[in-house]
Amino acid sequence: MLKIRDVCKIFNHTKVLENINLDVKKSSILGIAGPSGCGKSTFLRCIQKLEPIDHGTIECGGRTGFMFQDFQLFPHMTVLQNLTYAPTLKNKDSGKDYKKQAEGMLGDLGMASKANEYPNTLSGGQKQRVALARSLMTQPDILLCDEPTSGLDVSTTMDVVALLQSVGEQFGITIIIASHDLDFLTKISDRIVLLKDGAIAVDMDPRTDGAPIDFLKRYY
Ligand code: ADP
Repeated sequence: MLKIRDVCKIFNHTKVLENINLDVKKSSILGIAGPSGCGKSTFLRCIQKLEPIDHGTIECGGRTGFMFQDFQLFPHMTVLQNLTYAPTLKNKDSGKDYKKQAEGMLGDLGMASKANEYPNTLSGGQKQRVALARSLMTQPDILLCDEPTSGLDVSTTMDVVALLQSVGEQFGITIIIASHDLDFLTKISDRIVLLKDGAIAVDMDPRTDGAPIDFLKRYY
């Protein structure tokens, strides 16, 4: 689904990513761990082509969608408008009914009753659902999530785990999640890659390796 070869990313003469090689299987959930500033977010941004890479190749077998940290919802738009704005702008002449698609997506994520509300009236967990619905509007094959649980309490974080897992299964999407939250990552991922000093320091299956959190913590 995703083939990454010898990828390097340099910021101000510093190699943030150095010769990254990674293959990601279809419909898997990959967690990206690592200490703050290790390049997790940059890695996702390179896959989404929000940042150009300085070396290597990223081959993506489908469309990508990006869920930004802290939701980044448009405050002056309703939930429904948040979902339809980008696709309508991008495909003005397609005549496609994005409103209907958005309503369906909100229904799938249990947010149909909030379609005409503004983001400031929603809880953190509800905002996260809207952000997820918005990133699914492009019908991505790969969903890139940057710190999806930042600012959420433990029980809402557990809702996000269930939500992302069900979205992965329901839509057959490959999900890549960058997070500092090891508890969250080990619960949701079927594979975890830890970045350190620009390279992959650990590549593990948290379900088969005993005490994965303790193991990963050694690299912080
Ligand atoms: P993480 O997500 O793991 O916390 P980031 O990918 O945000 O790490 O950042 C990795 C490194 O790259 C940090 O040292 C950060 O300061 C630097 N960096 C990120 N974005 C930029 C940028 N646009 N310009 C310069 N340096 C950047």
